[in-house]
Amino acid sequence: MTVYADNAATTRMSRTAIEAMLPYMDGICGNPSSLHSEGQRAAEALQGAREKIAACLGCSPREITFTSGGSEADNQAILTAAEIGRRKSKRHILSTAFEHHAVLHTLEKLERQGFEVELLPVHENGMISARDVEAAIREDTCLVTVMYANNEIGSILPVSEIGEVCQKAGVLFHTDAVQAAGHLAIDVRAQHIDMLSLSAHKFHGPKGIGALYVRQGIPLTTLIEGGAQERGKRAGTENVPAIVGMAAALEEACRNLERNAARMTALRDKLIAGLSRIPHSALNGDPVNRLPGNVNFCFEGIEGESLLLLLDEKGIYASSGSACTSGSLDPSHVLLAIGRPHEIAHGSLRLSLCESNTDEEVDYLLREIPEVVTYLRNMSPLWRDKVSGKREFLLK
Ligand SMILES: *Cc1c(COP(=O)(O)O)cnc(C)c1O
Repeated sequence: MTVYADNAATTRMSRTAIEAMLPYMDGICGNPSSLHSEGQRAAEALQGAREKIAACLGCSPREITFTSGGSEADNQAILTAAEIGRRKSKRHILSTAFEHHAVLHTLEKLERQGFEVELLPVHENGMISARDVEAAIREDTCLVTVMYANNEIGSILPVSEIGEVCQKAGVLFHTDAVQAAGHLAIDVRAQHIDMLSLSAHKFHGPKGIGALYVRQGIPLTTLIEGGAQERGKRAGTENVPAIVGMAAALEEACRNLERNAARMTALRDKLIAGLSRIPHSALNGDPVNRLPGNVNFCFEGIEGESLLLLLDEKGIYASSGSACTSGSLDPSHVLLAIGRPHEIAHGSLRLSLCESNTDEEVDYLLREIPEVVTYLRNMSPLWRDKVSGKREFLLK
């Protein structure tokens, strides 16, 4: 049996997305900027995709800009707010310690340019409250950027409340909604969101394509200079098939959102209940307020990397805290942000499900994972010291 349980890293493309794309890969070849009718057919496809995505987010199609993915959308949103702030001499930016690196590294770049970046500490359950944000907003704050849902531990942040706080204070609010789009209901107007990033490959669309919602009236900063595509804000001939695939995937995900969430939540909770029985383990993130497909545990006395390799041999595809920055031995900044000690953070496992995972697959995971954990612990000198009382256990 093979179980793909790494949907937070990327998802398999849906039939719907593939079929929507085919006519634009093997048929209509026009450049949407061309005036002839072949070009106009491509331009119409872009417009249709923009309308579908806007409908899923509750905004106007003009407020959608296509990007190469979530990372580019995050970069563009943050640099846009920074540029506006610079003009008003507002150089304070608020974010959280557990954002995606696309956000954190962009903020580090701005710090080197003289911005003051304040990363709010994350509570033990992986949450940040709107009050934390409210208390930290200053006269010179030009941006609040807080993710919609965390990609590692799945916690869902109170984005609507944070949006309200920002609107009252007159501060731009961006949210990295890459893990939320297609999985949680989004309404940018009702939630007072000024900018929002999404990425197609996290909801069964193609890789290398994403979108940025920017509220009308906010002057978007251009990262890629060239032609007049995307109203001059993002040059380069549009990836028409990918854009069409993204729109089809998002529309399908939004249409089935509640049914999918119910399915995944049931599987998730069964997994959490089963894995909680492993002694000296702990669930990371909030037990209730979490993405329907996210399961993340720390198992004391093991290395996440070894766990992943042994699970791979059993056909189980998952990830660990350090897998995102593959090659690096640093534990996950997310697990450190919620207060896990280094030693514990190293032994993490993230299983991220999608709606097509099955009950049988969950049973297989619950059979294999405890076995592999026990096997690895038995090989570990550190574990033996803990069992014999020479060292203390850190987790109950
Ligand atoms: C995957 C992910 C990104 C990056 O998106 P890409 O399309 O891969 O660039 C950004 N933020 C979060 C929360 C993600 O999960």
